[in-house]
Amino acid sequence: MKAVCWYGAHDVRVETVPDPEILNPRDAIIKISSTAICGSDIHLYDGYIPTMKKGDILGHEFMGEVVEVGKGVDNLKKGDRVVVPFTIACGHCFFCERQMWSLCDNSNPNAWLAESLYGHSAAGLFGYSHIYGGYAGGQAQYVRVPFADVGPIKVPDNLTDEQALFLSDIFPTGYMAAENCQIQPGDTVAVWGCGPVGQFAIQSAYLLGAERVIAIDRFPERLQMAKEQSKAEVINYEGQDVVELLKQATGGRGPDACIDAVGLEAHGTSIGATMDKIKQQVHLGTDRPHVLRQAIQACRKGGTVSLPGVYGGYLDKVPFGAAFAKGLTFKMGQTHVHRYLRPLLNRIQEGEIDPSFVITHRMTLEDAPHAYDIFKHKEDNCIKVILKPNA
Ligand SMILES: [Zn+2]
Ligand SMILES: [Zn+2]
Repeated sequence: MKAVCWYGAHDVRVETVPDPEILNPRDAIIKISSTAICGSDIHLYDGYIPTMKKGDILGHEFMGEVVEVGKGVDNLKKGDRVVVPFTIACGHCFFCERQMWSLCDNSNPNAWLAESLYGHSAAGLFGYSHIYGGYAGGQAQYVRVPFADVGPIKVPDNLTDEQALFLSDIFPTGYMAAENCQIQPGDTVAVWGCGPVGQFAIQSAYLLGAERVIAIDRFPERLQMAKEQSKAEVINYEGQDVVELLKQATGGRGPDACIDAVGLEAHGTSIGATMDKIKQQVHLGTDRPHVLRQAIQACRKGGTVSLPGVYGGYLDKVPFGAAFAKGLTFKMGQTHVHRYLRPLLNRIQEGEIDPSFVITHRMTLEDAPHAYDIFKHKEDNCIKVILKPNA
């Protein structure tokens, strides 16, 4: 089959690789109809995530048709059309039973790697390095889906791929970020970052009852999408004192909740060196928590800072004193995608949201190297790319 393979920083290639096979009874093989490139793929593309190996297949946002199931999968059959969560979860461990799917104890065969860095390992992820399990991703014609009896959800015929695909990650991720804000009627929510996750966070905040959402970015096309599609008030942060503007916009009180949908821009630059070094050099900041600092500073007293943006290592000069003095609540982590599949599918079917609005580019799998390039550099007003591997 054809697949998008990682070969190093800024080097992805479309190669012919062996087809995936059923390895365990709870596996399924999916023929991919649509797959997307995600902002977090850019951390891999830039070479910042350790434990990538040459030839690794990328991609964690995908959907398609079931073509084979293992003996242990009795809820799916050949021909079913499904969308698959990017987090891999067993469904039966302590964490899965408590709906904390992205913290599954059983889905990362390389857990020891993550334990050495974080104390414990979270769930395995598709196409996201060997520290997250080394699973082949879905920017390919086919993919093996482990624990297929608990992950994939069937997509009704009346929804298009473009409407359903983002249930795999960015819609639930934006939604969980908003849900973590515990929005009350009348609340104002500020969202840093108007990429796809930021857009879904804005729309989800409204779905959950926010009165106002103020979105912050610097790319005109993203601010425009936030304003026109997601109905946010917008701030272009260039040359602006964002904290002061947010104060002014909220009668001096500050937003009730602040969502950091940016995360570390230079994801794990220093993690890339070696994980051991990081463990030793604990005084070294590894991420650039600029947005987090602003969010803490801007948030109203007693408010919530919600972090869907990814952080990887040690953060320097985070104003923890301000967070304490203001009694802030922090909520963060990888999305418990499985928890949101059914409720968000229902919201799409009810017409409350059409996730396809974020798509700016539609390409073939062969276009992937170019797609990564324009997506990374935000060229051609690129906000979200989908690829059609079997078109
Ligand atoms: Zn993603
Ligand atoms: Zn589990």
